[in-house]
Amino acid sequence: MKIAIIGAGVSGLTAAHHLTTRGLEVEVFEKSRGLGGRLATKRLDWAHMDTGAQYFTARDPRFVQQVTSWQEAGVVEPWPFTPYSLSADGALLPSPDQTLRYVGVPGMNNLAHALAKKLTVHRKQCITSLVRKHNRWRLVSDSGDQFTDYDWVIVSAPAEQSRVLLSGHTPIAEHISSELLEPCLALVIATSGHAPEAVQGIFGDGTVGWVSRLSAKPQRAKDAAYDDLWLLHFSSDWSANYDPSAENNIGPIGLEWLQNAIDTLPDQKEKKPLQIVNHCQHYWRFARMAKNSEQPPTLIDKSNHLAAIGDWSYGGRIEGAYLSALHLIHTTF
Ligand SMILES: Cc1cc2nc3c(=O)[nH]c(=O)nc-3n(C[C@H](O)[C@H](O)[C@H](O)COP(=O)(O)OP(=O)(O)OC[C@H]3O[C@@H](n4cnc5c(N)ncnc54)[C@H](O)[C@@H]3O)c2cc1C
Repeated sequence: MKIAIIGAGVSGLTAAHHLTTRGLEVEVFEKSRGLGGRLATKRLDWAHMDTGAQYFTARDPRFVQQVTSWQEAGVVEPWPFTPYSLSADGALLPSPDQTLRYVGVPGMNNLAHALAKKLTVHRKQCITSLVRKHNRWRLVSDSGDQFTDYDWVIVSAPAEQSRVLLSGHTPIAEHISSELLEPCLALVIATSGHAPEAVQGIFGDGTVGWVSRLSAKPQRAKDAAYDDLWLLHFSSDWSANYDPSAENNIGPIGLEWLQNAIDTLPDQKEKKPLQIVNHCQHYWRFARMAKNSEQPPTLIDKSNHLAAIGDWSYGGRIEGAYLSALHLIHTTF
């Protein structure tokens, strides 16, 4: 059996990995040059930075088992820290929780590379349409390339994009929401100056939803040109009101927000304000599911040999992406 998988994020690569292990012929198609999708580690000459998912948690025993073997293989490590959160009056307070957080090392997308070992991945192939002929599927890419003779097609793109690709071919497309994932503007700033070492992650407010001190994550290389590397994820509401085509530099907004938050911490012996040495920003059009969004039913069409998987079909997040692929494999192949 020959299977095409569209998308090389966690869900697509997990499906590909398990199907290959079962001896099936699998090819993955990815529109980007890199692997991992929203599990992204950007490599610039001044820093390597995680711009998408910052860490992940593992609750389901099947995912816990996978994370344990990734840990043994040196692919992931725990990131132990006590996060801070902003109080209603804007002060940073420690927010103790028991959550065990993991990160890919030396970058988040190392998970994707671990899953993709031994897989055939056609990179920079954006699949624009599917064609059914003689009970087989053909894939057409935006460059006009055609890939033929697949028994099954598994689409693992974000919900909105999966819906477009599958429309007209299967009733499952109707169950995929066209407005499920919210946007997120990510800002990375390399800074000089001082911030207390305990500040590694911040649950923010209606402007900035989350901050990671990237330079404090395990096994991150640091450049002598700056003291720290920070990532700020602007909130969904703030990001939805941002016009990505304007390409405004939001570095100063992010820096001011971060400095104001840090200034609320008591007993700072060393006061050396942060200054931006370098910055980079990335707009995620489809980032995370809105809280309390409705789950679609399982999206497998056994008559037409089509399926849609992804975080959005299994509760969101990296764990959901992984489990959506496992669910498909165990119920269908
Ligand atoms: C800003 C941000 C912060 C996040 N924070 C966290 C977090 O802290 N913890 C957590 O667990 N999760 C977090 N997430 C969510 C997590 O990243 C996702 O749940 C997970 O990575 C989704 O994996 P996936 O395989 O379902 O989809 P994706 O990673 O989106 O993979 C889909 C892939 O399909 C490709 N693709 C799409 N259309 C086509 C096409 N037509 N042809 C070919 N390829 C195509 C895309 O390029 C992509 O590589 C965050 C995400 C973002 C963006």
